[in-house]
Amino acid sequence: MVKFCYNCDKEQKTEVITKEEISVIRGKDIVSTSNIRICSVCKEELFDESLDEANINRAYDVYRQKYGILSADKIRGVREQYGLSQRVFANLLNIGEASIARYETGSVPEKSLSNMIMLLKEPRNMKMLLEKNEEALNYKEKYKLIQKINELSSQNECATSDEIDSYQLYHFLKNNAKREGKSIQSYVEEIIKKEVV
Ligand SMILES: [Zn+2]
Repeated sequence: MVKFCYNCDKEQKTEVITKEEISVIRGKDIVSTSNIRICSVCKEELFDESLDEANINRAYDVYRQKYGILSADKIRGVREQYGLSQRVFANLLNIGEASIARYETGSVPEKSLSNMIMLLKEPRNMKMLLEKNEEALNYKEKYKLIQKINELSSQNECATSDEIDSYQLYHFLKNNAKREGKSIQSYVEEIIKKEVV
């Protein structure tokens, strides 16, 4: 690709190199691989919007993995599992609709919110949240959600393709609960209570 190089002060051939970069995300140093366009002649780094965007997303992915934060797809997946709109899901979680939209397009949620959403994959946790936060939904929304919860609960009893995810979730919870010296049940209840105050 030919681009204008400010260093050479003219159009030059360019190439893409790969290097490790450190970015600061939420105050943490994150090392990730970046693709960078350089001038083939003087090797000056040139700004490339699409490469830059992909680099930032890659750094966020590393952050998510390192700190166990759900990906944008997983967050959307949990919401869609219950057939909820972004607005209704946001109401249930006591957060703004715009925030959910942002998390579903790549913004990184706080760990506590991410944990909360991860827990909601399990229909009985969604049920518990709905019971504690009933006034967040209108009658029709509540009715639809309860139906969906019941539907998913009966599917779960027959062991669905979500089995591995549930297994991972279980171990994740077990380890977290153990670390805090609690049972899974009280750990889950605490998270849900904390989020719904
Ligand atoms: Zn140059």
